[in-house]
Amino acid sequence: MKNQILELLRKNADYISGQELCEHFNVSRTAVWKAVEQLKKDGYIIEAVRNRGYRLVTNGSDVYNKAEIDASIKTDYIGRNSFFYNIIGSTNTEAKRLAEEGAESGTLVVADRQTAGKGRRGRTWESPEGTNIYFSLLLKPEFAPAQAPMLTLVMALAVAEALNKLPGTDTNADAADKSSDAKGDTAGDAKARIKWPNDIVINGKKVCGILTEMSVEHDYIQYVVIGTGINVKQQVFDADYAAHASSVETELGMFVSRSKLIGLIMETFEKHYKEFETTENLSPVKAEYEELLVNKGREVCVLDPKGEYRGTALGINDSGELLVKTDDNNVTEVYAGEVSVRGIYGYV
Ligand code: ATP
Repeated sequence: MKNQILELLRKNADYISGQELCEHFNVSRTAVWKAVEQLKKDGYIIEAVRNRGYRLVTNGSDVYNKAEIDASIKTDYIGRNSFFYNIIGSTNTEAKRLAEEGAESGTLVVADRQTAGKGRRGRTWESPEGTNIYFSLLLKPEFAPAQAPMLTLVMALAVAEALNKLPGTDTNADAADKSSDAKGDTAGDAKARIKWPNDIVINGKKVCGILTEMSVEHDYIQYVVIGTGINVKQQVFDADYAAHASSVETELGMFVSRSKLIGLIMETFEKHYKEFETTENLSPVKAEYEELLVNKGREVCVLDPKGEYRGTALGINDSGELLVKTDDNNVTEVYAGEVSVRGIYGYV
């Protein structure tokens, strides 16, 4: 009943009288009142006004649960089958477990807190509760395993674009772009950009990391899991990376609903994933990716375990490798696998 009342309140921008709710569900006024009280306990802001009834206040509300996330996802299939956990070890590990059990492609695993959040190359992802987004998207693609790492870049593009689509950010970003041609390391350039291959930065600070894992059998993909951690509200970070980490709300200076942001990401990812499937490479999304690529045209330091080197990042190729022009005018194709890039003066 609670969820049905929520559904009805969600559909009506205006007040619904208690009487109407009683009649609709054929229950007593007390039952309606109790359900509304439960919804308030869940974090929903519901106004109750004498002689008018109940109204759901959506603005400024960060209710974060399965019902709210499901309500924000308007895709064909990406994120439609969702799981929500208050606490989990790692959403990637859970998504892999679900994949082994036969979960369908597009399944989404979201958690409010991770106790063993993972980063690339065995590193960890700080995942406190009540502040951020941690999700893993399960895909079961038909293409060859070699194409799968490119999905990390597709997700990076989807997250950056979704952040830039948040109500209130478009105008900020456009205004900032006009007033500055610098990318991402200037105060006031409140636009989400991509630090190759898969970090999202705002004002030059990292707000998101992405980790793609896959299972391969006899040369075909059993499943791919794209894990994404987005700092939405977190204020304090581990000293090791506090200097270059931040959160979306801090950098954009506005409230962000985590559930709505997930909905936007799923929608944007689905669009680009469908484009990706047509060519099985990044050519359909390359221009949009490069448009947001903070490293493009900049001097970068490539942290390759075989030896660090510097050069100018030109963009990416259709496989998502970073094209770096070195001093001898050679262009190297940098594969993300074991490598990180940094700006020569800092993180970007
Ligand atoms: P980078 O280029 O920043 O080194 P990466 O792509 O190689 O990142 P990721 O998997 O994106 O690696 O991130 C893991 C690293 O990010 C950790 O080792 C840590 O330094 C940093 N980190 C961990 N948790 C967070 C967080 N919540 N926000 C920002 N940075 C974090």
